[in-house]
This record gives sequence, structure tokens and C-alpha cells, in this order.
Amino acid sequence: GPVIRFDDVHFQYDHDRPILKGVSFEVPAGKTIAVVGPSGAGKSTISRLLYRFYDVSSGAVTIDGQDVRDITQNSLRSAIGMVPQDTVLFNDTIAYNIRYGRPDATDEEVRQAARMAQIGEFIESLPRGYDTPVGERGLKLSGGEKQRVAIARTILKAPPILVLDEATSALDTKTERDIQSALDAVSKNRTTVVIAHRLSTVINADEIIVLRDGQIAERGRHPDLLMRD
Ligand code: ADP
Ligand code: ADP
Repeated sequence: GPVIRFDDVHFQYDHDRPILKGVSFEVPAGKTIAVVGPSGAGKSTISRLLYRFYDVSSGAVTIDGQDVRDITQNSLRSAIGMVPQDTVLFNDTIAYNIRYGRPDATDEEVRQAARMAQIGEFIESLPRGYDTPVGERGLKLSGGEKQRVAIARTILKAPPILVLDEATSALDTKTERDIQSALDAVSKNRTTVVIAHRLSTVINADEIIVLRDGQIAERGRHPDLLMRD
């Protein structure tokens, strides 16, 4: 996988309130870094800057030395597989939603990704939102089920970079454990940023960054950080 770097990144959504205040870190090729910290610390903002939903106010985000602002949107988005906190699905079958991002995938590949994300039984169903009419095959998906669709999509796409933003937060403990191992398998040798609330979900990270109030308060490996808790 590629190398990701954040170099003295400052960012604010609004003029008067800085959100990231000089954040620097590197994710070496194929390694996994976890960003943990309290709600509002700026964790998701990091993923949004990487994916270029927003641009830095100062500093730089680079992939293999190239500023993300110089990468076309298409190549950036094909390089990054993102599992966001809230997944919005297309109003089409689950299979369609999983295949999105890899239109060439075979039906069997789609089914396998769906099984790994434990959403296999639903793939011919249509997701139904609060605002869409109930179709014949309409199925109201829970937050956790939508999250599994996004995970299946990412497993199928298997991009060089993975960004998992609280990717399993809406799942029960057993499902979370099973899907976590599927995600660990995909993230092997891919450059991965895991965003998490709880330290306990990131035991496999090569490095953990603790973000507080837009700054890196601590960094280290899982057992060391736990001891300092
Ligand atoms: P975390 O992921 O650590 O919970 P976020 O990165 O989502 O934190 O948010 C950091 C801060 O930025 C929060 O105070 C949040 O309210 C604010 N924020 C997030 N998104 C926006 C936005 N689109 N406009 C303005 N403020 C935002
Ligand atoms: P793209 O430019 O590839 O459409 P977006 O930035 O619009 O990507 O979305 C980011 C990711 O979120 C996409 O790769 C896709 O996985 C998912 N996504 C985007 N729009 C939708 C949508 N309307 N419904 C479901 N998933 C979506």
C-alpha cells in the first residue's frame, strides 16, 4: 500500500473555531494506524481531509508524497475504500450497493463479500429508507445492516487504502468480532486508518494516536497506552 502523511495539518469548518491544530503523523505502507479519542476531538475530520470532502486550511495531506489536492477525484476515490459512520445506500438492491465501486465483480465475488460482512441473506433485497416507498422487496435496514453493506463493498473493492470510521460501532459484540476479523484480513498489507472510540477495538493497529481537542495528545502501541490509562 501507499504511504499517507499528515504534515502540520490545521483545519477549521468555520472561521472562528479551529478543529485540527497542527496534526502530523505518517502511516507507513501497508500499516494500520488507529485514531482514538473523545467525541468531537476531530477524528472523522481526519478521514474527510484524506478523502477530500474538505481541504486543509494549512499544512498538507500526501499519499506517496503527492498532495491529495493534486490527485484527481477519480483516482483518489478509487484508491481509498471508506466505511463511513453513517452509510447512505443507493435505492437499489443490496447486491448493487455492494458492487458499486467495482462494477466488474462477478456475482460470486459479490456474494462472497456479502457473506464475509454477514449480510449474505439480504443481497437481492432493496433497502428502504424512511422517505422511500415500501417496494415489493423493500427491506428496512438497521444502522448495523447498512454498515455491513458498506463493509461488504469495501471488502469487494479491496483498495490500496482503507479508512474505517467507527466501522463496526453499530454492531453487536459477536457480529463485531466476526466482521472485525474479515476487516483485519482485507487491511493486511493495505495502508489503513481506523477511527475508533474505544481502545479495545484497535488491538491490531501498528500505532495508535490519541487525539484530544484537535491535537495529538499521545501516541504509542496498544499495551503501552492501556498501561498509562
Ligand atoms: P470526532 O470524529 O472526533 O467525534 P469530528 O471530526 O466529527 O470529531 O468533529 C470535530 C469537531 O468539528 C466537532 O466539534 C464537530 O461538531 C465539528 N464539526 C464536524 N463537522 C462539521 C461541519 N460540517 N461543520 C462545522 N463543524 C463541524
Ligand atoms: P464517488 O465519487 O465514487 O461517487 P462519493 O464521494 O460520492 O464517491 O462517495 C464516497 C463513497 O460513498 C463512495 O465510494 C461510495 O462507496 C459511497 N457512496 C457515495 N454516494 C453514495 C450513495 N448515494 N449511496 C450509497 N453510497 C454512496
